[in-house]
Amino acid sequence: MGAATAVELLRDGHRVTVVEPGDPGGRQSASFGNGTLLNPSSVIPMSSPGLWRKVPGYLSDPLGPLAIRWSYLPRLLPWLWRFIRAGSSEAKIAAIARALRPLLVDAPALHRKLAEEAGVGELITRQGVLYVFPSRADFDAEGLSWRVRRENGVRWLELNEEELRQQEPSLDRRYKFAVLVEENGQCADPGAYVNALMQHAQSLGATHRRTRATGLRIEARRLRAVSTDDGEIACDKAVIATGAFSKSLARAAGDRVPLETERGYHVVIENPGIAPRYPVMPSDGKMGCVMTPQGLRLAGQVELAGLTAAANWQRADVLRNFARKVFPGLPAEFPKEQLKVWMGHRPSMPDGLPCIGPASGCPDVMHAFGHGHVGLTAGAATARLVADLISGKTPSIDPKPYAATRFYPAANYPGQR
Ligand SMILES: Cc1cc2nc3c(=O)[nH]c(=O)nc-3n(C[C@H](O)[C@H](O)[C@H](O)COP(=O)(O)OP(=O)(O)OC[C@H]3O[C@@H](n4cnc5c(N)ncnc54)[C@H](O)[C@@H]3O)c2cc1C
Repeated sequence: MGAATAVELLRDGHRVTVVEPGDPGGRQSASFGNGTLLNPSSVIPMSSPGLWRKVPGYLSDPLGPLAIRWSYLPRLLPWLWRFIRAGSSEAKIAAIARALRPLLVDAPALHRKLAEEAGVGELITRQGVLYVFPSRADFDAEGLSWRVRRENGVRWLELNEEELRQQEPSLDRRYKFAVLVEENGQCADPGAYVNALMQHAQSLGATHRRTRATGLRIEARRLRAVSTDDGEIACDKAVIATGAFSKSLARAAGDRVPLETERGYHVVIENPGIAPRYPVMPSDGKMGCVMTPQGLRLAGQVELAGLTAAANWQRADVLRNFARKVFPGLPAEFPKEQLKVWMGHRPSMPDGLPCIGPASGCPDVMHAFGHGHVGLTAGAATARLVADLISGKTPSIDPKPYAATRFYPAANYPGQR
């Protein structure tokens, strides 16, 4: 969000300083280690009807695809309650999908354009993504999701067993049905992409301050400065694009947002000995299996355990072990040096929609965080939207569904007090 927004703001003639303590696109950011997918079809929120019945299972299985740490449950409860309610009916899911789609549609083309400007156009491809199922019945069991996707303009090709075998011979024969979503794409190396965007921004005049933003100096609802570990940076506008770490800055701008981290993991297997043609999403694995310049990346898992708890690397083993069930050609063991593991923080709002738009306590401060599972995909459109709002242009996307205030009845919204 930060790097792409910097480029768009420079395009509009603003002077830009990016405050980022680490390397842009480095391991500290969710953007480094995600599933690499640019999926306009990813409009379905994580929450679904009847989810509350599954919560005991999430608590008892620390290695399941969605796990909640007991010790974190008390702090998580308010978010979890909103999360369960957000997807409790098809109508709610359809409304979220309608609101999300404009940020995702055309993502591969928008990113390709940005990447080309930054000199790394080859990182972005639109080859389609393959969703594979043990049977047609397993696809039908996800009927609600695919129905809502279709209502939002997502189209796909259905592949029977024979066609699937031809398209992706590396897959286990257990998979007998697939859909190929051709509009979906991939950014082969998201960390390198973000880094290239930042270098491009710097070549256009942006400054990178390697420090942490700690607060905002707001006087009479006007922004005067961003405070950092190394003193203040005077400015008249600011964009909060600090991913899962945005809560306290949003609070400083008058918005008490229910932002959580959905921690995710990846394993990269160098020289895996197989080379799937398509990014593959196995329905029974809840993970993405994608080729990257570094090797086969297996990315997924949701762990609700907060920002500071230690990683549970057994979860990375779960991803690796399941990958052998997807690709039987993967060797059973790899030397340790061939495996790279990572854990990162998806910045997640309970309803799966981001927070974008002016802060309640100060219209000079713009939110640009909370994109959960689709932040890579939505990055290009969000950056343009934020730049339009800051530059006073009429944006092509209506920001209303992303207002931070949507979780509060207008009367007692904290930012108004
Ligand atoms: C396992 C996994 C798989 C995923 N797969 C996909 C996928 O396939 N497709 C997709 O679209 N999305 C995917 N996502 C989601 C996506 O990665 C995120 O939504 C996206 O990276 C969020 O981008 P961001 O810029 O908001 O946050 P980040 O990339 O986390 O960047 C935030 C930056 O803010 C900096 N920062 C934090 N605090 C401060 C501070 N106080 N001052 C200054 N800087 C600060 C951090 O150092 C960091 O660099 C996945 C996520 C995970 C974890």
